[in-house]
Amino acid sequence: MTPDNEDLWFLPLGGTGEIGMNLNLYGHDGRWLMVDCGVTFPRPGRVAADGTVHHGGEPPVQMADPAFIADRREQLAGLVITHAHEDHVGAVPYLWPLLQCPVYTSRFTAEILRRKLAEFDLLHRVPIIEVETGQTRQIGPFSVQWLALTHSIPDPNALMIRTPIGNIFHSGDWKLDDQPLVGHGYSRKTFSDLAAEGVDAMVCDSTNATLPGHSVSEATLHEGLIRLIANAEGRVVVTCFGSNIARLHTLASIARETGRYMGLLGRSLVNMSGAAKAAGLWDAADQLINPSHIGYLPRNEVLAAATGSQGEPRTALRRLAAGNHPDFELEAGDTVIFSARAIPGNEEAIKALISRLSALGVKVITAESADLPIHASGHPAQEELELMYNWVKPAIAIPVHGEAEHMETHATIARATGVPRALVGRNGDLFMIRPVPGMRRQITATGRLGWEKQVLVRVG
Ligand SMILES: [Zn+2]
Ligand SMILES: [Zn+2]
Repeated sequence: MTPDNEDLWFLPLGGTGEIGMNLNLYGHDGRWLMVDCGVTFPRPGRVAADGTVHHGGEPPVQMADPAFIADRREQLAGLVITHAHEDHVGAVPYLWPLLQCPVYTSRFTAEILRRKLAEFDLLHRVPIIEVETGQTRQIGPFSVQWLALTHSIPDPNALMIRTPIGNIFHSGDWKLDDQPLVGHGYSRKTFSDLAAEGVDAMVCDSTNATLPGHSVSEATLHEGLIRLIANAEGRVVVTCFGSNIARLHTLASIARETGRYMGLLGRSLVNMSGAAKAAGLWDAADQLINPSHIGYLPRNEVLAAATGSQGEPRTALRRLAAGNHPDFELEAGDTVIFSARAIPGNEEAIKALISRLSALGVKVITAESADLPIHASGHPAQEELELMYNWVKPAIAIPVHGEAEHMETHATIARATGVPRALVGRNGDLFMIRPVPGMRRQITATGRLGWEKQVLVRVG
């Protein structure tokens, strides 16, 4: 099954029908372009590929079955990574040996990827080509342009994929944040210009398609967070996703404004801030102290950012709750703030963590219990989807990055904005954008690539 020069195909192998492990393929003129190569962390109780049930503890990492493209790797022109979240970049060290193609990505994402590859002894084998926002690269028969969008991590990009027979707008993960605080913003004109040129299909993020309204800007969180931190008497520990450099920037500003010293607790926070510094995305005014000094400071001069917002084992916040963190112990009167949402499936672990902290006399504030927003999603809610469809005006909408419910709702929104066709499929479905607009069929050459066939790798 090979696309010829009149074909333009989209074939998702992961991330369509689920949130996680994105792996997308575009096919034209005998070649394929891969966009993203991510992992997911199975929920406790979910049956894995080998029939075992995951009972908690160190999660196994799971990724899409790459057999379809690994069998045709001489046809694979390249891999583009849209941004550095695990569900987009995390599988590269596992799958690259089967693919052996060049990897194109932004500078920050390249920094994160290099750190991962080094752990797998692959650093000097994988050719990484750094691309600046706005630039275009010819990758086989695909001309790929990097377009500035905003998300919850630095350097996220949408892609305009051009071929002689049709154009595809691939959104990546995005929101419309007018004040993203770190890195590039976005411009409405970028997207309305695409409409003028003509977009045959728009492959787009469905994560928050069931939520009305507009996502909250990173900049608005300052108010909610400073109010909580300024009023806290003891130490303050804020737990958030390590990759959200804008959130760390907000916390560092608040540390200065409230006379506290900020330290980072946990490997992923240290790793991400290091990558941000290397990519020129860290504000020099955002000074950090060595976390081993925290225990010696007056309690009201401490602001720590910690990993573990999902209650994961062996993270900094779990250790603090258990009283076995090497740097300091939480005491009654200290405050822990969850500047994160619960990822579905983690509610029980988070509840257990909160009750342990409360038992120590620690005041716990979550995004739900706070009066003002202290967490912002990185994905578009309904108003943002409507805006984007009105700007890009694609001939076909293809919702991805969601479960069936998110993608169906997303398709309804797209149609309501005037998009002639919206196609909802799932991993293993072949979307024929050209020559027959809107046809969709399952790949039969290799069988349906469902959840049951996905690769399971146990880590740690
Ligand atoms: Zn994602
Ligand atoms: Zn993302």
